[in-house]
Amino acid sequence: MRDSYGRDITYLRLSVTELCNLRCLYCMPEDGVCKKRHEEMLTEDEMIRAVEAAASLGVTKLRITGGEPLVKKNLLSICRRAAAVDGIKELCITTNGTRLAEMAVPLRKAGVSRVNISLDTLDEEKYAYITRHGSLSQALNGLHAALSAGFNQVKINTVLIGGFNDTEIRRLAELTLQYPLDVRFIELMPMPGGGDFGESAYIPCSAVLEALPEAVPRPSNDGVAKLYRLPNAKGDVGMISPVSAHFCGSCNRIRLTADGKLKPCLHSAQELPIKGMNLEEMTEQFKRAIGAKPVRHAELSSHSRSLAGRGMNTIGG
Ligand code: SAM
Ligand code: SF4
Repeated sequence: MRDSYGRDITYLRLSVTELCNLRCLYCMPEDGVCKKRHEEMLTEDEMIRAVEAAASLGVTKLRITGGEPLVKKNLLSICRRAAAVDGIKELCITTNGTRLAEMAVPLRKAGVSRVNISLDTLDEEKYAYITRHGSLSQALNGLHAALSAGFNQVKINTVLIGGFNDTEIRRLAELTLQYPLDVRFIELMPMPGGGDFGESAYIPCSAVLEALPEAVPRPSNDGVAKLYRLPNAKGDVGMISPVSAHFCGSCNRIRLTADGKLKPCLHSAQELPIKGMNLEEMTEQFKRAIGAKPVRHAELSSHSRSLAGRGMNTIGG
């Protein structure tokens, strides 16, 4: 379905849980989330109904996210059923990777075709710092399991943080020389619930190109990432610049939170509930949400936080 500005909305991001086994500094508070009542959250049947409603309006790509989707008990069943919905051509998942060692093959068998793994550093101590306790070796085991499980694509997502991992740009990008994967650098967004990073943490993705002068541009079929490739690499290096150069003009997505709220825009507090609705009602609500997409989001900077109204772990990225 087209929104009011002529953008074709073909991509649904479905957050299946707000819970996470990590506590990344930029994403959520140390004490985790205020646990909502079970009855407030979407049931598996409601999630699948929402996917059916979205698919009936032209959504073809579904990304499962969270919180950490791999902590969700019925994740494989959600994936199997979502992949089988008429019209869904691509089922992707975004994960911190720490549980992928056990889950990569079952996820592939459940119909997931592409995996994004969030990884901000290759240094054990820095990993434990940014995730507030996570184990780098667990995430790397997960990455290797994903590479062996036969997914169509494995991507690494790195949030670029000045003073933290800008010195690791080359090391992370060079993973594309070693493995058939893509590495995408994403500008740090000032989200509610995320820590207070100083101004110098917000560096533009152009820092990636400065660190990789030999990278050559590649044609991009991905609306949001600018793509480059290192000579002899097996995958691309991508740059996503929501802060320095918003990509609202080519936005093709709609988001559904685990507590059943449709978000027309990541950086707006506007939400439309679908909890408890039947298929027809949900479809109408999706139409309203797509119709409510703003032309663009408000300015983001270290001084002006996102107006998302909730933390990233409760939206899904
Ligand atoms: N737990 C999973 C993971 O970490 O991949 C999925 C959910 S997480 C909210 C989705 C994505 O949002 C991750 O790639 C994460 O790095 C990104 N993210 C979270 N907070 C962010 C922020 N403040 N700025 C930029 N990206 C952020
Ligand atoms: Fe958890 Fe992902 Fe947020 Fe990190 S970015 S705290 S792994 S939801």
